[in-house]
Amino acid sequence: MADYNVIVIGAGPAGYVAAIRCAQLGMKTACIDKWMSPDGKPSLGGTCLNVGCIPSKALLDSSHHYYFMQKQASTHGIQCEGLSIDVAAMQARKNEVVKTLTKGIAGLFKKNKVTFLEGTAHLAANKQVEVTAHDGSQQTVSADNILIATGSVSSQIPVAPTDDKLIVDSTGALAFDSVPKRLGVIGTGAIGLELGSVWNRLGSQVTILEALPDFIATADRKIAAAAQREMKKQGLNIHLGANVTSATVSNDEVTVTYQDKKGEQQLVVDKLIVAVGRKPNTEGLGAAGIGIQIDERGFIEVDKYRQTSIQDIYAVGDVIGGPMLAHKGSEEGVMVAERLVGQKSEMSYETVPWVIYTHPEIAWVGKTEEQLKAAGVEYKVGQFPFAAIGRARAHGDISGMVRIIADAKTDSLLGVHIFGISASELIAEAVVAMEFESSAEDLARTIHAHPTLAEAVHEAALGVEGRMIHA
Ligand code: FAD
Ligand code: AMP
Repeated sequence: MADYNVIVIGAGPAGYVAAIRCAQLGMKTACIDKWMSPDGKPSLGGTCLNVGCIPSKALLDSSHHYYFMQKQASTHGIQCEGLSIDVAAMQARKNEVVKTLTKGIAGLFKKNKVTFLEGTAHLAANKQVEVTAHDGSQQTVSADNILIATGSVSSQIPVAPTDDKLIVDSTGALAFDSVPKRLGVIGTGAIGLELGSVWNRLGSQVTILEALPDFIATADRKIAAAAQREMKKQGLNIHLGANVTSATVSNDEVTVTYQDKKGEQQLVVDKLIVAVGRKPNTEGLGAAGIGIQIDERGFIEVDKYRQTSIQDIYAVGDVIGGPMLAHKGSEEGVMVAERLVGQKSEMSYETVPWVIYTHPEIAWVGKTEEQLKAAGVEYKVGQFPFAAIGRARAHGDISGMVRIIADAKTDSLLGVHIFGISASELIAEAVVAMEFESSAEDLARTIHAHPTLAEAVHEAALGVEGRMIHA
């Protein structure tokens, strides 16, 4: 008999959620993770809690408060003299937020009777897993089912190797102990824009270099254009079509060379953040060694229900690719757990929401107009600006809009795209509506409280039939 019904490898949002759900469903569950906090203690929650979603949002919030006090408070009649930043205190607060949440997962494991095994997991034959703890001690455990959720790590590019001092990845950029005077960022993905925004708000002169000609190529074009204009206003210098070809360090400076339309250019900065995406983390796991198929980009190959090429071994989260988002991994973990006990759970990839936590935020679900055009789908669009929303005016945050795209014939929702204050929260309504296969009219006939930002979603839905009230 195996030691466990399920062993989950990795306690990021994909793994820890899966482990809790497995235990809730009555399976004897263990979860293995190797992450250590800076003070040398096991720290659950993976990339997301330790060096991803949570610390970035903590710094985004702190830096936004500073930016607000500096640039916007006076419009509310609030005067502030002697405003200053204490980066160490800001970082300490961020670390405390992380600590509280990672400890919270340890508490949830206890409550749900998930056995936590500290250490690095290595897959062996016959569904056995060798675990090597930080103190070097080893044990081998076995399970009826194994779930791999080993996540991802920052991608590197050979032209700009990180040195963890002047050239850093996202983890380094979350831990700066002072505000760099001149900051370069490679990549306009969510991570590059969010971290660029943090340090820009705190006073860095930020230049973002992006090889692609389009800003946030995956977003709706009108939303991306509006966001680009707003970020430019905030002082972010965004350079598209700029392919970085080298980054060299000398005299405490980084010289970044890039190619754009005009030819070879140079940028000199005090720090450079390399934010060029993430790659699957299977190092040392031994997946290939037991015959698990891995694709040419390093992602573990899985079927529709996330089983790998080996029976009873599953994989979820960043390590299998697709949207590399915490909530995508968590829901995959839930699906696998529930199917293990015979439930018929499915995962709805069409309704995975995307959010970029700039200010204002960018969020969307479903298809963009461009994707629908390319697929030859006929559609209608309703668009409504936050400038016409009372609550946005009261906030003093009126940039952006909601765009709702519906099928021209059936009126069913095909995509919802938001650029504006609290877009990350507003998108939830659209996700629910799409999950329930609602029409734009369903949203338009749903009562929205007044005054709320959500009225922008309501008005955009009314706009699909050209019957907005406030525009
Ligand atoms: P991970 O979170 O990477 O967790 C994998 C875990 O597996 C780690 O704890 C690791 O220690 C462990 N592990 C790996 N190999 C082994 C082994 N052999 N043995 C034992 N343990 C092992 N996503 C969002 O949805 N929203 C955001 O706002 C957001 N912001 C982000 C900001 C930043 C700066 C970064 C870097 C990422 C952000 N992400 C965000 C992405 C998000 O963090 C990932 O999509 C998510 O963490 C993936 O979850 P996961 O469980 O698949 O893997
Ligand atoms: P994401 O994968 O969404 O985090 O985005 C990473 C971004 O970095 C992509 O938009 C890439 O086009 C961009 N990128 C990757 N390599 C380079 C490079 N050498 N120079 C400039 N941009 C790059």
